[in-house]
Amino acid sequence: MAPENVIELRQVSTRFGAHVVHDGIDLAVRRAEIFALIGGSGSGKSTLLREMILLQKPDSGSIRVLGVDLANISDADALALRLRWGVMFQHGGLFGALTVTENIGLPLREHTAQDDREIDEIAAAKLAMAGLAPEVGAQYPAELSGGMLKRASLARALALDPELLFLDEPTAGLDPESAGEVDQLVRKLRDQFGITLVMISHDLDLLWQTADRVAVLADGKVQGVGSMAELAAMDNPAIRKFFEGPRGRNAQEQAQTQSGGQAWKPK
Ligand code: ADP
Ligand code: MG
Repeated sequence: MAPENVIELRQVSTRFGAHVVHDGIDLAVRRAEIFALIGGSGSGKSTLLREMILLQKPDSGSIRVLGVDLANISDADALALRLRWGVMFQHGGLFGALTVTENIGLPLREHTAQDDREIDEIAAAKLAMAGLAPEVGAQYPAELSGGMLKRASLARALALDPELLFLDEPTAGLDPESAGEVDQLVRKLRDQFGITLVMISHDLDLLWQTADRVAVLADGKVQGVGSMAELAAMDNPAIRKFFEGPRGRNAQEQAQTQSGGQAWKPK
């Protein structure tokens, strides 16, 4: 495994019955990059993410995360790894009966020997890191807006200071303003804290604004990997699909206007 690679997939194949979802996937995620996985609905993005976080096993191929081979991993090694990454699930996954502060404190209570006061201090720091006001800590998940819920879920994912953070659709269901704040948050986590981010998203604005490299999944294969600008210049129809149509062009023009570049013109 190359030292700069935090995740390496070699020839990963997955099927459900006769349905082949992954047919020899090769991928590498480098340290401190913002890496995105895109592809149509049902292309196997979530399944691949679940395989990277030990929730599911591929039928063949190898997956290494933080230098550890996930095949035949012992329970002790699996726990040690789980403490080094954070996951923000698409629907938040917070416990409704606990306050936000209690939710964030849960992994700390479970895996560290810190006392209640220390845990509350850490929870407050993670709230701030996720861009939430201190008073949100006393609220229950049902009292929060969609954007706040995602941030609270992110704060919990950050509780154990992960090196690696997985985000499944971090902006899905958010209004444009909240989604824009997620862009900044994602960049901050990498720039200020050096966290490696792996995200699934079809939010073209988020992808243009944040992703260093993007892998396109279709027909069981990685169709291409590169920056959004590199992918936009590829001829593969499975990739072109993401850049065509008004939403694709709009996001690209905005990204390039903001970075001072030339607006992209369709071929
Ligand atoms: P995506 O996240 O890209 O939309 P998924 O990884 O969720 O796609 O699913 C990929 C394909 O695998 C879909 O056709 C889905 O129906 C199928 N699939 C996912 N999980 C299971 C499962 N546990 N059993 C059977 N089929 C599944
Ligand atoms: Mg999915």
